[in-house]
Amino acid sequence: MVRVAEEWLATCGGCEVTILDLGEALLDLLPKLEFVHIPVLMDHKYYGQTGEKTALEIPEADVGIISGGIRSEENKQIAEEMRRKCKTLIALGSCANFGGIPALANMYTTDQIFDRVYRETKSTDPADNPTVDIPPLRDRVYSVSEVINVDLGLPGCPTTPELVAEALTCLLEGKPFSLAERSVCDDCPVKREKKAVTNLKRPLEKVEFTPGQKFEEIRCFMEQGFLCQGPATRAGCGGAEKIPRCVKAYMTCRGCFGPIRAGANPMVDMMGALSSIGLNPREIEDRMATFNRFIGVVGRLRPLPAR
Ligand code: SF4
Ligand code: SF4
Ligand code: SF4
Repeated sequence: MVRVAEEWLATCGGCEVTILDLGEALLDLLPKLEFVHIPVLMDHKYYGQTGEKTALEIPEADVGIISGGIRSEENKQIAEEMRRKCKTLIALGSCANFGGIPALANMYTTDQIFDRVYRETKSTDPADNPTVDIPPLRDRVYSVSEVINVDLGLPGCPTTPELVAEALTCLLEGKPFSLAERSVCDDCPVKREKKAVTNLKRPLEKVEFTPGQKFEEIRCFMEQGFLCQGPATRAGCGGAEKIPRCVKAYMTCRGCFGPIRAGANPMVDMMGALSSIGLNPREIEDRMATFNRFIGVVGRLRPLPAR
């Protein structure tokens, strides 16, 4: 029996739902797994069930899974306890691996964030920053691997049940696991004509397709004038079928699987991809946040200089 501990840090909970979404694969895996700690499913408290312990404690486990990035000192403490107690640690989803959506806040200092939240919004009665019983914020959002060693990272916002099942199965069977090193476009079945387009369309305009039409007959969304981040994003969201998850829903890729390989810069790659079909990347307002939407850690997003 393999003991599994799961934790969520600065997260929305969507990646936990992915674990539940495993469906039948979860039924196959469950007889081999014993969940010893997983806040989304079971009531297991950090300081003992009646608060009798003085130190935060997570049970020992063979496999640890962490979703969410590290925003607060409490997140850091929990991540460090998971590392101490888990033999193999998986970072689940783009928040855990690259900061994800919460790391968009890395464009602001914590003072700016507090001013905005507690004093500057029109609907808020200005107040002091709360200080009682609240874990202090760190200076920015960190990925899990910036704070502790991680053995395996599964990207995606959320990641996919297929990837979770594949990673767990490989771990259980002692087989190697690796992520694809190709782009979402490499898997995408739509028709590319390599003809220039002149205008970027608004994201909420409708992609051109006829209901029931085969994907191979639908024109590439970027060549239709939409910002699609498939050229600069790691493939893998389409599962065995390989049709990218958003394209299957007639939506553009927003880049949630992160860079195609470690060290790649999606912003530079996207600027090149857009220019190559005649689109002007400078028309995109807020380029920095748009191209780094899911990957704000390790300096991709940082406070902007005052103007
Ligand atoms: S990666 Fe996306 S789905 Fe997963 S926790 Fe972060 S915001 Fe939620
Ligand atoms: S740009 Fe988007 S629509 Fe076009 S091939 Fe790439 S992923 Fe598919
Ligand atoms: S198509 Fe892009 S944004 Fe959509 S799930 Fe796949 S990687 Fe994420």
